[in-house]
Amino acid sequence: MKLSENKIKTSTFFAEQTYNRMKKQLAKYEADSEKQARLEKALCTTCYYLKSSIAGQAFTKYNCQHCGEEHTHPNTNVPKYCFKCSKEHNACKKCGASKGD
Ligand SMILES: [Zn+2]
Ligand SMILES: [Zn+2]
Repeated sequence: MKLSENKIKTSTFFAEQTYNRMKKQLAKYEADSEKQARLEKALCTTCYYLKSSIAGQAFTKYNCQHCGEEHTHPNTNVPKYCFKCSKEHNACKKCGASKGD
């Protein structure tokens, strides 16, 4: 689409939306406002609030990088570690970072 006053206005609107969305996510991150849900998912604050990604809906097998056991994950966005290891080490199942206290 060619640049026009209107096009720039619309793009600016969406750019600001992105900023506002991220600002909200950052506020949530800082307050850890969904801690319960986050811990149920065994994720650290960064993975839960800042890296939520869209994943394909397909059961996917993965091997936990800690215990080596094979597990199944409900979507294609597979974690690195299983729930058990995540719990045992208080580590995020996606990146291994601390889940906090
Ligand atoms: Zn494991
Ligand atoms: Zn993480």
